[in-house]
Amino acid sequence: MSNIQERDQTYVAATYARFPVEIVSGKGSVAVDSNGKEYIDLGSGIGVTSFGFCDDEWVAAVTAQLGQVQHASNLYYTEPCGKLAEMLCGKTGMKKVFFSNSGAEANECAVKVARKYAADTYGAERNTIVTLENSFHGRTLTTLAATGQAKFHALFQPLTPGFVHVPANDIGAMKTMVESVKPAAVMIECVQGEGGVNPLEKTYVREVAALCREHGALLIVDEVQTGNGRTGKLYSYMNFDVTPDIVTTAKGLGGGLPIGATLLGEKVKNVLGAGDHGSTFGGNPVACAGAVSILSRIDEDLLAEVRRKSRLAFGMLSGAEGIESVTGMGLMIGVKTVKPAGEVLAACRERGVLCLSAKDKVRLLPPLNIPEEQLVRALEILRDVCAEGLPKDGLLD
Ligand SMILES: *Cc1c(COP(=O)(O)O)cnc(C)c1O
Repeated sequence: MSNIQERDQTYVAATYARFPVEIVSGKGSVAVDSNGKEYIDLGSGIGVTSFGFCDDEWVAAVTAQLGQVQHASNLYYTEPCGKLAEMLCGKTGMKKVFFSNSGAEANECAVKVARKYAADTYGAERNTIVTLENSFHGRTLTTLAATGQAKFHALFQPLTPGFVHVPANDIGAMKTMVESVKPAAVMIECVQGEGGVNPLEKTYVREVAALCREHGALLIVDEVQTGNGRTGKLYSYMNFDVTPDIVTTAKGLGGGLPIGATLLGEKVKNVLGAGDHGSTFGGNPVACAGAVSILSRIDEDLLAEVRRKSRLAFGMLSGAEGIESVTGMGLMIGVKTVKPAGEVLAACRERGVLCLSAKDKVRLLPPLNIPEEQLVRALEILRDVCAEGLPKDGLLD
């Protein structure tokens, strides 16, 4: 075993079951490992490298800012943070932004805003947040409590109280819950990512939004994975014709540097005042300069390209041998394979394609600007891997 892997296994906390690949460099949608082997990347570092590895414009924006001022603290003004906030508000209609460094932190801020808003408006006893079963909202104790998957809860009790979960796409269950607990907010992912790339039904999302309005609960949409062009719209809620009160995002916004953003709508724009919340690194000028470069290029042309490549991918994978179903939206795609997902990932890696998994599915989150010929080549390899060695009826015994 090489030095890199041995040292990591000795000294880095064993929280990740890493694949035996050492990524040493990358350009665009191609990663290179320590043996010089190239891979077409269908994972984007889990939806982070929106424009691929070391994208020229992003590198130029980040390095220019690095040479100017890398950090100043939130005691002072720096330009990139305000510029990014203005862009986010301009493109969404939201009113203010709180910056942090990760998806979990973006959601923590959303929960704090929702609880303070509900306490200010209705009284402190109104503090419950309703989330969906099979959701994923992060790894901190509060966002774990928000995550509707018992397997994440077991080891870390007690979690933050005040979270309840209902099954997705069951408006009756949501209505009963909202009427009985009178929540401060409902938080959803419009496409559940870690839960297996499952889009919510359009009517369900609209009904949830209406229910929130009717009962004075805030609607929080977690766009950490679905955001920043991933689903073929700038934010996934824009596919559902709803207006959230709070939008959280992270992953792909930074293009590869840590950033989290909590977008606050009209109702909640002034809920947080000086001293109510904060983050040492939040709004870091280098991270924000990178995000400005990313966000400024997620325009209508790019989104149309994402939707076109999405149709291409769905077309190539749907009904192929060894593939049971294809779900998702835009370039956020879940593939249920006859073979176990882990086996498919390993065989793809062997042949130079990097994929992700989500639950029992193969998950694809390619860079938004992946060249079409690379996407096609990678999907052909995935298709071959899924079909290979299956008996003629397509079932394993
Ligand atoms: C990844 C993810 C998070 C957590 O983001 P971190 O940056 O890892 O804290 C939260 N919500 C969703 C929907 C995610 O996909």
